Amino acid sequence: MRADLLKKELQIFTFGDLLTHFPFRHLDRTNIQLIGQLSPNLDQVQVKGRLLHMELVGEKRSRRLVAQIRDATGIMELTWFQGASWVQKFLVVGQDYLVYGKLSFFLGKPQINHPELEPLQEANASGKNFLEPVYPVTEKLKARGINGRTLGKLVQQLFLVLTEKEIPENIPHQILSKEKLISRWEAFKNIHFPPSLDLKEKAINRLKFEEFFIAQLRLGMLRSARHRYSRGLVFQQVGKYFNDFYNNQLSFPLTNAQKRVLKEIRRDMATGKQMNRLLQGDVGSGKTIVAFMSMLIAIDNSYQACIMAPTEILARQHYENFKPIVESLELNIAFLSGSTKSAEKKKILKGMLEGEIHLVVGTHALIEETVQFKNLGLAVIDEQHKFGVEQRAKLWKKNTTPPHVLVMTATPIPRTLAMTAYGDLDFSVIDELPPGRKPVHTVHRLDDARPQVMDFIKSEIASGRQVYFIFPLIEESDKLQYEDLMQGYENVKAWFPEPQYWISMVHGRMNADQKEINMQRFVKNETQIMVGTTVIEVGVNVPNASVMIIESAEKFGLSQLHQLRGRVGRGSDKSYCILLSGSKVGQEAKNRLSIMCSTNDGFKIAEKDLEIRGPGDIQGTRQSGALNFKLASIVDDRGILEIAREHVESLLSDDADLEKNGNAVLKIFLQSEKGKTAWSRIS
Ligand code: ADP
Ligand code: MG
Repeated sequence: MRADLLKKELQIFTFGDLLTHFPFRHLDRTNIQLIGQLSPNLDQVQVKGRLLHMELVGEKRSRRLVAQIRDATGIMELTWFQGASWVQKFLVVGQDYLVYGKLSFFLGKPQINHPELEPLQEANASGKNFLEPVYPVTEKLKARGINGRTLGKLVQQLFLVLTEKEIPENIPHQILSKEKLISRWEAFKNIHFPPSLDLKEKAINRLKFEEFFIAQLRLGMLRSARHRYSRGLVFQQVGKYFNDFYNNQLSFPLTNAQKRVLKEIRRDMATGKQMNRLLQGDVGSGKTIVAFMSMLIAIDNSYQACIMAPTEILARQHYENFKPIVESLELNIAFLSGSTKSAEKKKILKGMLEGEIHLVVGTHALIEETVQFKNLGLAVIDEQHKFGVEQRAKLWKKNTTPPHVLVMTATPIPRTLAMTAYGDLDFSVIDELPPGRKPVHTVHRLDDARPQVMDFIKSEIASGRQVYFIFPLIEESDKLQYEDLMQGYENVKAWFPEPQYWISMVHGRMNADQKEINMQRFVKNETQIMVGTTVIEVGVNVPNASVMIIESAEKFGLSQLHQLRGRVGRGSDKSYCILLSGSKVGQEAKNRLSIMCSTNDGFKIAEKDLEIRGPGDIQGTRQSGALNFKLASIVDDRGILEIAREHVESLLSDDADLEKNGNAVLKIFLQSEKGKTAWSRIS
């Protein structure tokens, strides 16, 4: 019966589950206080003393048991409102008791209502010898008489029959002693029943370390298995196309970070193992050119390459950028999206299959099964928020030997998150912006400052600049938000009337052609203003645009705001981002806006975002269980994470298959986890 309840309410099925249902706090009953020294700032207290007197007072509903106990320093009153006569039967005047409960003061005298009492014996004469655990329980369990403390009795019974054999060590001895970590057995005992706060800390630390260590190890082993056993295409040479472009067409020097990343990619693609690399870089750090040059290496080695973008607008923009270069190299390029007309599509598919088309730019349409290549060598996925494993797997199947895969992020992922969620991928970081970039000057203005904001925009347009207005349309199906957008468009038009000003609009409900036409007018500077939604969030590159206005900015998340801001500051002009909001904005939204105003660094913003929201909601997070830690937090315990990571790296580089003696404990543990019925069921 009790077992059923535990299963249903807390998902506790096995003794193992019970052991890992950790207490959320402990009551310290290792100390005994003196009654004469109790002060009102104490909460739960424990005293011992002799029962002097007790009596039932009051009538009916107000009937209660009142007792006094005394120690050498003072007297204290104890009161029971419920079960008064029942309690009375158990208490003996003249006997010594250990008393515990919530302290209150009445007319300057200390008292406890409904204290816990137990006869004083030798064993508890100086308090209990461990801190008492309190476990999380549900309301339903409480109603059935199982509270956070009764659960402790169950765990205590379990420990009576458990020995160290049932909780064997799983971290190599060397690491334990280097990091001064206690054993696994000690840790489990002490997280439930610690003799002192210090030991409780040690237990928690050890178990957090273990969580990070094991998770990192699993991912690390996947990565190292791929390095050793995957088969990949060998791109032996950097040839004519790459060099021609690099020497004759590239109009700016690459940053050191870009050069370093290109080298990492080149090295990967020459090893004969499949590349699976995540490229991180802040908005505007120049990821595209790195991807493009990597694709030229594939072509130099007689393979095809493709790049997949999340939106039609962005895909088309890449296509327009690459086309003149690719054609000047006498290569063929094609564009493929959901809106490609079927006759055109047929021609393209044929060209891809026969190998006449060397480079394909497209949207998700690229992963459809009908899309086949003659010999795809490199697939790039651009501006990804979420890295679907299935998506990548579909790309792998586009060649008998899987193509190399390069995934580029839309926004930076905090280091700690990348380590825990993407530890099975290799990753490169472009941590340097091209020279001459000025930070986008960012301010937060309330709606009533609108007239000044509009005047400012007019002056920018007068000096030849272009402007974005972004409205929140998060769900394309949201009717209210859509109406807001239309209203917003009318408002902008009223401030900026034709023919002095021309406005483009782009949103998700338009068809692709319409979007493209409106976008192109803005790109060609035929319109000075772009009114849009987050469909322009990623990738769009119009260097002449210098002002980004974000309406109802409080409705956007941090990484979205940063992405949007990244649309300006791409040219040499000073640029601005103005975050508009009403005056009633919640504290968290205020925090977001002030972070935006204080930094332009996407990595810093990502760290803050992680702190504010926790890992669960961060864009780019996978639902892989890689982040399901019971105790450890990748925000608060970064220090431990870093140390665990270092140990995993050096362990794997020394003994990737865990074959050495000292690592046997780990190997055994990982194997036992596979079956996952290590402990018998609770009956
Ligand atoms: P993102 O990393 O956000 O995708 P892009 O690849 O779109 O950034 O690059 C942003 C802009 O910076 C583009 O106009 C690109 O041509 C330019 N750019 C890239 N690398 C350099 C560089 N090393 N020096 C100068 N400009 C660069
Ligand atoms: Mg980009």
